[in-house]
Amino acid sequence: MSDCIFCQIINKVIPAEFVYEDDDMVAFLDVNPVHPGHALVMPKQHVEKFVDVSPENCKAIAGVIQKIMKSLTGDLGYDGVNLIQNNGAAAGQIVPHLHFHVIPRKSGDGFAHWHGQGYANGEAALWAAKMRAALETTDAA
Ligand code: 5GP
Ligand code: ZN
Repeated sequence: MSDCIFCQIINKVIPAEFVYEDDDMVAFLDVNPVHPGHALVMPKQHVEKFVDVSPENCKAIAGVIQKIMKSLTGDLGYDGVNLIQNNGAAAGQIVPHLHFHVIPRKSGDGFAHWHGQGYANGEAALWAAKMRAALETTDAA
C-alpha cells in the first residue's frame, strides 16, 4: 500500500529506528513513546486489523512481541509492559496497518489505565452468555 506510512517505513522509504526484522515481521520504535523503547510490532504484509492477519503471521507476531517484551523487562530493566493493539478507528487506531504497541512501564510512572464502568446487576452473566453464543459461530485465525 503505497500511501500507508508503515508500509513506507517497512520498505525503507521513510526512516525509523528498527529493533527487529525478519522475512515477515518488523518492529521499530514509536516516534512518540510512552517511555524509550516503546516499540511497534507488525507484519510486513499490509493488513488493517487483527482479524485480517493470516494464521502463520498471527503466530509469528506473537513470538516477536514476546521476544521484545522479554528484552524490556530483562536486559533493559523495565518493571512491566503493556501490550496494546488499537483495532479500528473507534478504538483509536490512527495508522491503518495492523500493529501492536509494546509499551515498557516503570513502577509508579503514573500512566493511567482506562476507567471501567462496572456492570448492572445480572448484566455480566447476560453478556457472557451472549459472547459464548457468538463465539460458537466465530472462526479464528
Ligand atoms: P495507533 O493509534 O494507530 O495505534 O498508533 C499509531 C502510532 O504510530 C502512534 O503511537 C504514533 O506515535 C506512531 N507513529 C505515527 N507515525 C509514525 C512514524 O512516521 N514513525 C514512527 N516511528 N511512528 C509513528
Ligand atoms: Zn501498510
